Amino acid sequence: MGYNVLNYDTLLLVQICITVLTTVLLSMAALYSEGASEQRWWAMGNVVSSVGLALASLDSGPLVLHAVLGYGVLGLGLALVLRGLRLFCNETLSWRWIVAIVAGALLSTGFFTYAEPSLNARLSVTGFYFGLLNVLCAATLARHADWRSVGASVAGFAALGVALCVRGVYLLQHEPGDESALLVLGIVMLTVPLAQVSIAFGLILMVMRRYAERLRNLSWVDSLTGALNRAGLETQGRRVAQRTLRAGRCLAVIMLDADHFKDINDTWGHPVGDAVLRHLTRQIKAELRPLDLLARYGGEEFVLLLDGVNLDDALRVAERLRAKVEGEQVDVAGHTVRYTASMGVVCSDQHGYDLLELIVAGDAAMYAAKRAGRNRVMAG
Ligand code: GH3
Ligand code: MG
Ligand code: MG
Repeated sequence: MGYNVLNYDTLLLVQICITVLTTVLLSMAALYSEGASEQRWWAMGNVVSSVGLALASLDSGPLVLHAVLGYGVLGLGLALVLRGLRLFCNETLSWRWIVAIVAGALLSTGFFTYAEPSLNARLSVTGFYFGLLNVLCAATLARHADWRSVGASVAGFAALGVALCVRGVYLLQHEPGDESALLVLGIVMLTVPLAQVSIAFGLILMVMRRYAERLRNLSWVDSLTGALNRAGLETQGRRVAQRTLRAGRCLAVIMLDADHFKDINDTWGHPVGDAVLRHLTRQIKAELRPLDLLARYGGEEFVLLLDGVNLDDALRVAERLRAKVEGEQVDVAGHTVRYTASMGVVCSDQHGYDLLELIVAGDAAMYAAKRAGRNRVMAG
């Protein structure tokens, strides 16, 4: 008999083992990483789901326990997992929804246990209910849409959801002991543990990628202004230079230095100086387009890389920025501060695409602007 390959009891045993293993895996991961609250929800959801699954799989004992409460607990577990997923996507799932999910599981199983008792209808409706909840989990992550990060989890939740719905449909039409139902149920039971493994690894992969992103941000981004730091400029700036060179576009560099910045610190104190630096960063960012780059080169000196902009246009951008900075005032800690900036502008037309050479030439132009009286823009 071909069906023996998909022996129900063996598959059930495999499923239980995998449920326990993935639960341990997620719990260990949650213990290991402080701070990532979504992981604690996934771990807790998995533990609760496992308890619910165990209760629902009981053959004996009070009916209310394995026919109704088991599914309520399973619903609670899935709702907690869903809450973790939504937290990962910077959303949340209110306790009202969690209660509603649990109530839905209790009411539907309760109905087919006491009001209209039918084992098949109960198994069928739970198949649909938990299938759709898993599809909802997949959809929640899919909206997040960084496929390299969430692909494995989305596939796992979707496969689990579809498998459970298929089980629901089949049980509507066949008795659980029916031979042809056995094949379909066997395939479903094979899919479930595979999907569980995919989900567990997928969730851990998502968190690992997020950590990698955070670490990269820590090493590339200046914490005061949010602009790139020197390390970020070196890696990202080189990419921009190569990109523009390959595409045959101009690359313009603006070196910008705040004028008499030491006086601002000396007069109002360093916190005000910091606020001015953040203000300056916002003014610059407003002038940039998505492909451009901003880095804090030193204390109050910034580098702007403008993708596909020639010298004349870069001079216009710089002049607009200079006028804007001059016209603005910063209100901070009860003080009103005005400041200006000097800029040197160069372009790959004259200086090539070597970032260091562009920066040196831009710096020279910027110092020429300082010598010429500050609050001005000079071409290199
Ligand atoms: P110039 O017009 O010639 O550029 O004069 P300046 O005063 O701006 O230049 P100088 O190089 O003499 O002083 C730069 C000052 O910037 C000195 C330093 O204390 C201050 N500075 C550097 N980094 C920070 C920072 O992160 N926060 C604050 N508040 N000040 C900073
Ligand atoms: Mg300065
Ligand atoms: Mg300086």
